[in-house]
Amino acid sequence: MNIAIDGPAGAGKSTVAQLVAKQVGFTYIDTGAMYRALTLRALDRNVPLVDEEGLVDLLRSMLIILKPGAEGQKVFVGDTEVTDDIRHPEVSRNVSIVAKHPKIRHEMMVLQRNMAKEQNVVMDGRDIGTHVLPSAEVKVFLTASIEERAQRRYKELQSKGHPADLSLLKEEIALRDKLDSERETAPLRCAEDATILDSTGLSIDQVVEKIVELYRDTVESRRI
Ligand code: C5P
Repeated sequence: MNIAIDGPAGAGKSTVAQLVAKQVGFTYIDTGAMYRALTLRALDRNVPLVDEEGLVDLLRSMLIILKPGAEGQKVFVGDTEVTDDIRHPEVSRNVSIVAKHPKIRHEMMVLQRNMAKEQNVVMDGRDIGTHVLPSAEVKVFLTASIEERAQRRYKELQSKGHPADLSLLKEEIALRDKLDSERETAPLRCAEDATILDSTGLSIDQVVEKIVELYRDTVESRRI
């Protein structure tokens, strides 16, 4: 059984998806972390982000490992932990350029489907309900106003002691959403059978509760 959570940047998908996974006992998979890990490695190795074949070769040479942990999911490339590095603003600014290549999306989709084959997952991303796991039993499209998403990111950065500029964050989030929604292959879209959840003004716990409720209703209806 799988739960797919898609939505725009900064909607709180990963926080919510991790808590849902914990409550229902599934494995959490953050697909954005995979695109970020590839982007980080490409920037480090000076692979041009427009070089699709070069990026495919790079991705095939990498072992991306997502490890669940008490303080959240940890991300490794081989033996190197990149959990914090993949959140660097330079990675955020460039990841959508990497994620638009059809061959990269195909490779990622194969990796992600294999992960979901081995276990029950809560997977979050942009194309999970539409492409990666179209038959996921529960699909949620999690969104929030751009003001609220930028505010949340701003507070998160500030709490970690990173300098942040609210209007710049708003611009960056809007640009990433535009690139993700307008790409040709597997763009950011709400699946037809997804439940739209607008988290503006809701607490994390309220959003988690709503998704767990959807999951329980689905399990219940399958029993009948
Ligand atoms: O979820 P997160 O904001 O970390 O995702 C980073 C980027 O990775 C997105 O802006 C998008 O370009 C890409 N992505 C994607 N498909 C996914 C997950 C993420 O294209 N399933």
